[in-house]
Amino acid sequence: MAKKEFKSESKRLLDLMINSIYTHKEIFLRELISNASDAIDKLCFIALTDDKLNMSRDDFKIFIKPDKENRTLTITDNGIGMDKDDLENNLGTIASSGSYKFKQEMSEKQDDIDIIGQFGVGFYSAFMVAKKITVVTKKYGCDTAYKWESDGADGYEITETERDEIGTTIVLEIKDNTEEENYDEFLEQYRIQGLIKKYSDYIRYPIMMDMTHSRVKEETKDSEKPEYEDYTETETLNSMLPIWQRAKKDVKQEEYDNFYREKFMAMDKPLHTIVTSVEGVVTYKALLFIPSQAPYDYYTKEYKKGLQLYSSGVLIMENCEELLPEHFRFVKGIVDSADLSLNISREMLQHDRHLITIAQNIEKKIKNELTSMLANDRENYEKFFNAFGRQLKYGVSADYGMHKEELQDLLMYYSSTEKKLVTLSEYVDRMKEDQKFIYFAVGENISSIDNLPQTELLRSKGYEILYCTEEIDEFSLQTLMQYKDKKFCSATNDDLGIENDENKEEEKDSSAILTFVKETLGDKVSEVVASKKLVSHPVCLTAKGGISFEMEKYFNAVQP
Ligand code: ADP
Ligand code: MG
Repeated sequence: MAKKEFKSESKRLLDLMINSIYTHKEIFLRELISNASDAIDKLCFIALTDDKLNMSRDDFKIFIKPDKENRTLTITDNGIGMDKDDLENNLGTIASSGSYKFKQEMSEKQDDIDIIGQFGVGFYSAFMVAKKITVVTKKYGCDTAYKWESDGADGYEITETERDEIGTTIVLEIKDNTEEENYDEFLEQYRIQGLIKKYSDYIRYPIMMDMTHSRVKEETKDSEKPEYEDYTETETLNSMLPIWQRAKKDVKQEEYDNFYREKFMAMDKPLHTIVTSVEGVVTYKALLFIPSQAPYDYYTKEYKKGLQLYSSGVLIMENCEELLPEHFRFVKGIVDSADLSLNISREMLQHDRHLITIAQNIEKKIKNELTSMLANDRENYEKFFNAFGRQLKYGVSADYGMHKEELQDLLMYYSSTEKKLVTLSEYVDRMKEDQKFIYFAVGENISSIDNLPQTELLRSKGYEILYCTEEIDEFSLQTLMQYKDKKFCSATNDDLGIENDENKEEEKDSSAILTFVKETLGDKVSEVVASKKLVSHPVCLTAKGGISFEMEKYFNAVQP
C-alpha cells in the first residue's frame, strides 16, 4: 500500500505541536499511557454489557518494555484496539480524537465515564523522542489486525498484519543522542519508572515492566567475596488509586500525613487536612494541607506557591500558581479535575474558566476552614497563626486592601489585657461603653510596649491595647482603617478621643514651662503641649495626624 500523507493541516500542525505545545519531551510517555488507559476504559465499558467479552477489570494492564540494543520502547495495552478507519481518522488526522467522540456518544447512556483524551494531539508527542513509530493493533469485534507506521511529518502507511489478541502495541524507535539532546535516558528502566511515578501513578490499571535488579548470589552469601547476579521481575510501577479519590472515612490521618510528607518533601505533620469533593459547574476533588511550620525558605523568593494539578489522576502541572491566592500561599495540596484537558499549554490553562472557578472555590474553602478552626480549635489556630499570621497581614495590606474584608476576621494581635493573641471581633465585643477607638501601640517587643508612657492613660481607663511588634502589624491596621465601624487609633496619636477635663487647671499653670521647653528644643519638635495621656511619666512624644513614629521612620527610610 502506498504511503499516505497526513491530512493537509496535519503536517504543519504536527510541527507546531511538537515544538510548542509541550515544554518537556518526557511527557510523551504520559500521553501514550493515558491513551492506553483510555483504550482499556473503552473495552471495560463494553465488557459491562457484552457477555461474549469474557474479561473482568483485573485482566487489564499496560506493559512497558525498553530495549536498549534495538533502541526501542514498546507500550502495549489490551484495550479496545483500532481498525483501519480508526487508524486513518485518529492517528492519521491530528487534532481528531476518537476518545472525545467515544465520550460524547457514551455520555448519553452513562455519565460517569472518565476518559482522559479529548484533544487528539497527545499521540504525536511521541515524535519528540521517536524517529519512527509503529502501531500494531486489533480492534474488538474485528478479525483483521493492522500495522500503522510513520517516521514523522512525511506521512504514514497502513498494512494488514497478524496479532492474536485485542489491543494495541506501540513501538517507538528512539532517536539517537545529539550534542544537545539526550534520548538514551528513555531506554533506562529507572528513568521510565520515575516518569511513571511522576505522571501516571494514578492510572487505574497496572502499568507493568520487567525490572532487572542485582542481588548477591545465594551460594556466595557467606563467603568473603560475595558475587552478584542479575534477576528480572515483573513489577507494577503505579500505585493506581490516589489517596484523594478514596472516601475520607476510609483513610487514616496517618496516611494523609505520610502522603503530605512524601509529596511535598516536608518534615512536619500537617496542622490541618482539607478533603473536598465538588460536583457542579466544575467537578473536582482537592486534598489540601495547612503545614504546621513555615518551610525554611517560606519568606524568600525560592518558595513557590501553588497546587499540583491533575486531570483524572494524570499530572498536568506540578505547581499551578493560579490555584492559590497570594495570601494563602502556605497551603500545599493537589487538585484533580476531569474537566481539565491534559494537552493544554500553561498559557491556555491560565485563562481556562474551569480553572478560575476551581481557584475561587478553593479560596473560599480555605477561608472557611480557617474560620471554623479559629472558632472550634483555638489552640491549633494559634499555632497556625504563629507560623503564617504574617502572611495574612501582608494579604490585608497587599493590592490596596482588596482582600481586607475577606481576611480581617482571621487576624490576631497581642492584647495588653488578655496577654495573648486576640481577634478584632473579640476586642470590639469587650470595648468599654465610652470607648471610641480600637487602640494599638507600636514597639519593638511586648515589654517595650508595656512600658510605653503614651499608653498610660489608656491603661488607667482600662482600655485594651493591641500590640504591634512587627512592621506589618501596623501596616495591616492602617489598611483596615476600621473594624465594625470602630476606627483604629495609635497610642501615640495626639487625639485619643478621650475627654479628660481634670487637668485643665494645670494646663494654665504649666504655660510657662511649656514655653521654656519649646524654646529650648526649637525645631526638634513642632509643638509642646500639656499631655492628657500621662499618669506617672513626666513627658512623652506624640504624633500628629495619626501616623505612628514607627510608620514615620519607615516612610523616611523608603523615601529617596
Ligand atoms: P486524545 O487522547 O486527546 O484523543 P491522542 O492524539 O492522544 O488524542 O490520540 C488520538 C486518538 O487515537 C485517541 O482518541 C484514540 O481514539 C486513538 N488511540 C490512541 N492510542 C490508542 C490506543 N493505545 N488504543 C486505542 N486507540 C488509541
Ligand atoms: Mg491522548
